[in-house]
Amino acid sequence: MGTYAVTGSASGMGAAVVDRLRSDGHTVLTVDIKDAEVVADLSTPTGRGAAAREVLERCEGRLDGAVLAAGIGPAPGADRPQLILEVNFLGVVDLLEAWRPALAAAGNAKVVVFSSNSTTTVPLIARATTDAIIDRDMEKALRRIRLLGAKMAPSFAYGASKIAVSHWVRRHAVTREWAGAGIRLNAIAPGAILTPLLQQQLATPAEAKRIKAFPVPIGGFGDPDHLARWVTFMLSDAADFLCGSIIFVDGGSDAWFRASDWPRSLSARRVPGYMRRMRSFRPYPPTHGHSDHSG
Ligand code: NAD
Repeated sequence: MGTYAVTGSASGMGAAVVDRLRSDGHTVLTVDIKDAEVVADLSTPTGRGAAAREVLERCEGRLDGAVLAAGIGPAPGADRPQLILEVNFLGVVDLLEAWRPALAAAGNAKVVVFSSNSTTTVPLIARATTDAIIDRDMEKALRRIRLLGAKMAPSFAYGASKIAVSHWVRRHAVTREWAGAGIRLNAIAPGAILTPLLQQQLATPAEAKRIKAFPVPIGGFGDPDHLARWVTFMLSDAADFLCGSIIFVDGGSDAWFRASDWPRSLSARRVPGYMRRMRSFRPYPPTHGHSDHSG
């Protein structure tokens, strides 16, 4: 059985993941702002530092996996955009950077980050904004987000935080430090899942109307436990060959809007960069570990 760290463990999909892992017999270290073994506020550097340290102490330097589910939605409020970037982006990457050596110690650890289908369904988020988030220049990112209008700023910040965290996952997943250390780093991108986060959005009548009118070809909302089953599958041996993927589980909304945007061949302009990437690749040496458990 393995040892897993789960953030956002007190509610919604994080809580559903904890239940599944524990009922499969794994040890789970829970992290949340409330009702967790490690209580920490991931919107502050101090809180993130404390959460990272406490988990490392409790897992004794070895983690078989981590699930980064803590996140906040696009509720109204002037300070909300900044809070969203802190929790949804830094609350993921600061912890993962700190936990990476413990994940590497397991040999074939699995990490699942919660992204969102807002990444492809919220329009107008510029690459410069998401790159600023990845560069931790939150002032620049927030200035750009506010240019799109104060009312919509929380939604743009939410979409931007999830694009940034997804790009961070894909850029790092394939590197020597992650893939080369046997760590499978992937993300899940849910659509509207009926959790307290969505219920909070449904409580505002205008927001509820917008959410209910949003195209979901399969219909209705997703079930948190179904998403938890996807996550535990992504933590299991069956996911040994999964690396740098963003798995959409969204009832078809992304495909409705963006059916032919991906997969797509490279344009002639990008072939030289592709050839440079091809030539720069060197296989990583095999890692020592292998998993003896399934999630
Ligand atoms: P939820 O609100 O039920 O749970 C989120 C958890 O994160 C809560 O336990 C909360 O206390 C914790 N959290 C929030 N701020 C925190 C902070 N500052 N420090 C520590 N913990 C904090 O939400 P959920 O719907 O289960 O969402 C889980 C993840 O899935 C989030 O990252 C969310 O953005 C993402 N997501 C949700 C949906 C949806 O429709 N519910 C859709 C796409 C993506």
